[in-house]
Amino acid sequence: MAISDLQERLTDLDAFQRATGDWGIPANYIPELASIDTEQFAITVATADGQIFSAGDADTRFSVQSITKIFTLAIALGRVGDQLWNRVGREPSGRAFNSIVQLEQEREQGRPRNPFINAGAIVTTDEILSGRAPRDALAEIVQFVRTAAEDDDIHINNIVAASEIEHGHRNFALAHFLASCNNLKNPPEMTLGTYFHHCAIEMTTQQLAMAGRFLMDANCGPRLLSTARIRRLNALMLTCGHYDGSGDFAYRVGIPGKSGVGGGILAIVPGQASIAVWSPGLNRYGNSQQGTEALARLASQMNWSIF
Ligand code: GLN
Repeated sequence: MAISDLQERLTDLDAFQRATGDWGIPANYIPELASIDTEQFAITVATADGQIFSAGDADTRFSVQSITKIFTLAIALGRVGDQLWNRVGREPSGRAFNSIVQLEQEREQGRPRNPFINAGAIVTTDEILSGRAPRDALAEIVQFVRTAAEDDDIHINNIVAASEIEHGHRNFALAHFLASCNNLKNPPEMTLGTYFHHCAIEMTTQQLAMAGRFLMDANCGPRLLSTARIRRLNALMLTCGHYDGSGDFAYRVGIPGKSGVGGGILAIVPGQASIAVWSPGLNRYGNSQQGTEALARLASQMNWSIF
């Protein structure tokens, strides 16, 4: 299938996914996200030649949640380079995104498996935060996303952040455990406040697909990272981007992707496309149910695979 057929493909895909009626279950541990209407679906593809194609609710803003971990990782690597890996690993965890069990094991000793599980992302945020106020760290994160998307109309939803602060006992447990292992430089409450707020950034699939273009490493949009770093980020997305669903995602979809509990997924076809998909109901791994299915179908139809 050629790029010229993409609009028709996406329109068909939107109709197909809606007809399945298989919407999944929204994240229920963040009350502000739990009440969302699950029967929503959107997809946008930004191609390396500068075109953009969408179908479904592509103008609806959703909570991007863990997808922001890609951007915070890019910023942290920019600040401290490979030193970040002293504090966080690069191995798949084979566990849920908010798992605490591995952190205490002898091999880990408070060094999270990878930067995409919550514990690892909290450490990454902590690194960005060191030496400055949360407000300034958040301003840098939001600015990075806006620059990547070439769109200033991207904001944090403070109500979602507050909802997570109030109910985020798991993340507080993770942060305090990290602190007990001397792997937090800032007070846990301060690091978590920053983490919850960047997770609460909202975007449409149009904005997210645009923001993901730099990860294609093609000559389109702003150049924010070196080719070497882009490849490494994509490698981590492939191996760790869907938590303990990462192997299944790689097997079925065949391209790097990063999910969030808001139901979004950003997936990258290196050199060719940046794809944002959203549907708020999740599968048993905590990744978008319809989003995962739609990406598997689209990648197969377009013959998109890194393998
Ligand atoms: N803010 C969410 C949390 O920390 C992000 C998790 C996710 O999107 N998988 O639980």
